[in-house]
Amino acid sequence: MKLTFLGAAGEVTGSCLRVDHEHGAFLVDCGLFQGGREADRKNRSALDFELRGIDFVLLTHAHLDHSGLLPRLVALGYRGRIFATTATVDLLGVMLMDSAHIQEKEAEWALRDTRSRKAARRAEVAPLYTVEQARTSLGRLVATDYDAWIEPGAGVRCRFRDAGHILGSAIIEIDVGERGHTRRLVASGDIGQPMRPVLRDPVRIAHADYLCVESTYGNRAHRSFAATCDELVLALRRTLEVDGGNVIIPAFAVGRTQEVLFVLADLVRAGRIGRLDVVVDSPMASAVTALTVRHADLWDDETRALYAWAEANPGRFRVRFVQDVEESMALNAVKGGLVVISASGMCDAGRIKHHLRYNLGRRECAVVIAGFQAAGTLGRRLVDGAHQVTLFGERIPVRARIHTIGGLSAHADQPALLDWLRGFGEAPRRTFVVHGEATAAAAFVEAVERELGWSGVEAAQAGVPVVLK
Ligand SMILES: [Zn+2]
Repeated sequence: MKLTFLGAAGEVTGSCLRVDHEHGAFLVDCGLFQGGREADRKNRSALDFELRGIDFVLLTHAHLDHSGLLPRLVALGYRGRIFATTATVDLLGVMLMDSAHIQEKEAEWALRDTRSRKAARRAEVAPLYTVEQARTSLGRLVATDYDAWIEPGAGVRCRFRDAGHILGSAIIEIDVGERGHTRRLVASGDIGQPMRPVLRDPVRIAHADYLCVESTYGNRAHRSFAATCDELVLALRRTLEVDGGNVIIPAFAVGRTQEVLFVLADLVRAGRIGRLDVVVDSPMASAVTALTVRHADLWDDETRALYAWAEANPGRFRVRFVQDVEESMALNAVKGGLVVISASGMCDAGRIKHHLRYNLGRRECAVVIAGFQAAGTLGRRLVDGAHQVTLFGERIPVRARIHTIGGLSAHADQPALLDWLRGFGEAPRRTFVVHGEATAAAAFVEAVERELGWSGVEAAQAGVPVVLK
């Protein structure tokens, strides 16, 4: 068996693992590179290999940094199937279409932008993929149940286990038969933080010969969930009740938006805030919230109880889902009293940019950063304390208070990752640390060696094939 990390090695985006084995080859994830100047170039060259040699794709979850190159994969000639959990398949119907729409818009915008004429001549502003291509790729998806072994291709069986990260997310156990032996490869995908809203905790895995484990927060511990709620209450009360401004929450449409809704409702239910007026201004977040409600079978018990309470108390926790652009623009005139949850989660695209444009410059407002902000994104600049930012070509001073509340992360922190690794009966022969910026991955390698006494642990190297014996 041979592993090649095509992305998410020394960085947190572009997840794609190629596995070559006796009977063929397959991919685990096929994600977009996001953030930073190099992302577009990397996305365009990521699939520069013989795609007909790939028999099937296994997908851990719907986040675009794991799934966002699937339309391109199919457009470039991939003809096999793509296996994912049922909820992931549902989510992709929303997310890949939205991603394609953004790709088309950005290409159109770049063509109009005089500064990009040179790039246009190099034909680099063709969309990465089109809406039509995304639709075609959806036809390759095969919905799979959690916990059931399937045989996606010759010599391989696998099963998807709940990763507790976003709706439908999975850790994948993959048995690969070679020379009469079976070797188990486990791909962690993204691992959720235990004891967090909405989803169940990640399943512990007992055995792996080879393991790929994420390390987004491999070098740190989240603030406690209780401390996160305390800070959120402070930000909400001061901004809404004292200063009379708005609270803007950039949030990933998938996962984070639903968690933030849960936490806000929970704070009202507990009486820590009298009432809240919340607007979800992201068509995708609205669609995904509806999907989440449809998959209530995947919720934890607390979420069921809270949902029943919210249904029974519509006056105290009001949520409005904004669809059309006019309604979204009308929000820009609202000076105070609103909590606006909008996407993208890293502030680089979508309607959140408009809300930041109208609220960042106002001292009475607050921005609550509730998710991971990759290097190179606008969200990261806000977290890092930028005094001004550029939005739509306009310099906007940062006067609103910026709150970073770490405890809501969809990713396990270092203690939780180590605890998940303790579920393995014995150390895998080799462990590859993926999906972390270089410093986080290196720190996590060290932590695993020190805390668990494992050997054979290393940070994955991009593009360098590793032969496993
Ligand atoms: Zn993810």
